[in-house]
Amino acid sequence: MSILVVGSVAYDGIETPFGKVDRILGGSATFISITASYFHSPLQLVGVVGHDFAEEDLNKLKARDIDLEGLQIDNSGRTFFWSGRYHFDLNNRDTLDTQLNVFEKFDPVIPASYQNAKVVCLGNIAPALQNKVLDQIETPDLVILDTMNFWIEGARKDLEVTLNRVDVLIINDSEARELSGEPNLVKAADKIRSMGPDTLIIKKGEHGALLFTNGSIFSAPAYPIVDIFDPTGAGDTFLGGFAGWLARSGDFSDENFRRAVIYGSAMASFCVEKFGPERLLSLTAAEINERYTEFRTLSEIPVQREDTF
Ligand code: AMP
Repeated sequence: MSILVVGSVAYDGIETPFGKVDRILGGSATFISITASYFHSPLQLVGVVGHDFAEEDLNKLKARDIDLEGLQIDNSGRTFFWSGRYHFDLNNRDTLDTQLNVFEKFDPVIPASYQNAKVVCLGNIAPALQNKVLDQIETPDLVILDTMNFWIEGARKDLEVTLNRVDVLIINDSEARELSGEPNLVKAADKIRSMGPDTLIIKKGEHGALLFTNGSIFSAPAYPIVDIFDPTGAGDTFLGGFAGWLARSGDFSDENFRRAVIYGSAMASFCVEKFGPERLLSLTAAEINERYTEFRTLSEIPVQREDTF
């Protein structure tokens, strides 16, 4: 069962209360694929970079055994660049600059060897491009979509088409409210699920995540992280851990979706410990398993015979 990841491969400039980097490897597909690579292979990446993309960064992806046949190198321009500044509480950020560069003309071409991918991760890019990718995939078992306010506001029609074609949507709470026009998240979830995705995950930043499936709601705890350094990519990393676990286990039951949400949360909690994907490049299976277990114990309520009245 292969995982296909499409999204941005970027350079980011990031400012947090703890420091500043002018240019570091980033992008939605980068975070998703590096994270998922801890769980499963083959992992196939579709994206585009420009002439300025460093050999050193390409090697970081290769070192994670990511298949780069679908990564186009467009020598006519520079790599997508995004920069942002985080507020003191790290929950909010201002985008300072978005330079599409080679992304402006990006036409995703899915190599023949990727077309039978079983788990498809549509990272944050224009919904029209996400649709083009889906047109080229044969019979995926699971399609997972990420999007953002930018597309909810600017490409609503295309996004509605994409929503109808996916199994799982992962968004944050403000995006869920905006997409549904509904302030209450439970009602918002109902509305969004009626737009297409059977399963909806609403991330609530440092307050955990909610998983909505047919007739059930699961609330995942947030990890009390001591060393938050840079939240960039945490959302994509969540998606990578979620998809990685599902592909690894091959089990798409509601119960296993709960485990996948915890793996997503565990991986995101590592991501924020250092700038960019740096922390994600040096993890071990033992560290991932240990954090997964910590998550489980975080919200375990010991059962005893008379604990309700
Ligand atoms: P996250 O913090 O999970 O929202 O993801 C941050 C990553 O998304 C950064 O590495 C950026 O390079 C990338 N990004 C930001 N804006 C866009 C956009 N409009 N399209 C695609 N990728 C983006």
